[in-house]
Amino acid sequence: MYHILDTPKTDKESKYCCLPKNFSKQMSFLANSDYSLINLDDVDDILSGKKVMNSTCVAVTFDDGFEDFYHNAFPILKKFDIPATLFMVADRVGQSNDWMHKHGSPKRNLLNENQLADISNSGVLIGSHTCTHPKLNEISLNKEMLENEIFNSRQALEKQLNKKVEHFAYPYGLFDEEVVQVVKNAGYKTACSTRSGFNRLEIQPFLLRRIEVFGSDNLWQFKQKLKFGTNDMPLTFHLSYYLSRFKEKFLR
Ligand SMILES: [Zn+2]
Repeated sequence: MYHILDTPKTDKESKYCCLPKNFSKQMSFLANSDYSLINLDDVDDILSGKKVMNSTCVAVTFDDGFEDFYHNAFPILKKFDIPATLFMVADRVGQSNDWMHKHGSPKRNLLNENQLADISNSGVLIGSHTCTHPKLNEISLNKEMLENEIFNSRQALEKQLNKKVEHFAYPYGLFDEEVVQVVKNAGYKTACSTRSGFNRLEIQPFLLRRIEVFGSDNLWQFKQKLKFGTNDMPLTFHLSYYLSRFKEKFLR
């Protein structure tokens, strides 16, 4: 999971800003690795048994639909021929990240209609990230508001792109039972959370896990995240892992 692909404007933002040069190294690594690179349609096919994969798969996703994706990520994805899924805030196409900058984060542009159409036509799968990026668990008692955010975002994107929109990502990774039910009723096939971990075949398709790539991650940390399926790994985690590997070899 990525958010902003650009140089951070503030310290606070740096966690969610991946430098394009780091992103390029990460994609180059993936393209030359043994991982199978897939999008969320493939995830759905795999979980529903339509497709069988014999290797570990990686799906690269982007939340929010920042305009920097168009300039800094899209060319790199094309260069390495890497499938991707982007979750767009439907009512903010051509606008900005108001849900962030009204709380003091820097203002950043989101993709406009032409850019969104271009990336969609070039094979980037577009999913919904609601209409306005609310905390869905906080509005889950207001059925009308909840349905608007989940149903209408899908409809708006489908109309704009003239394609089916079948994947969803919960803003801030927040949801409750009611939210998940409405996402299911709206006809989505999968929904991504921000809980870290691997997605094995028995995973609930509406609670998919994702690993977050932080702006500070170097290539080694990126590889470790893929290997262990976790966002934050204390040094002791690595030490105990390699110690057990060493013991295994030594005692064999
Ligand atoms: Zn978001």
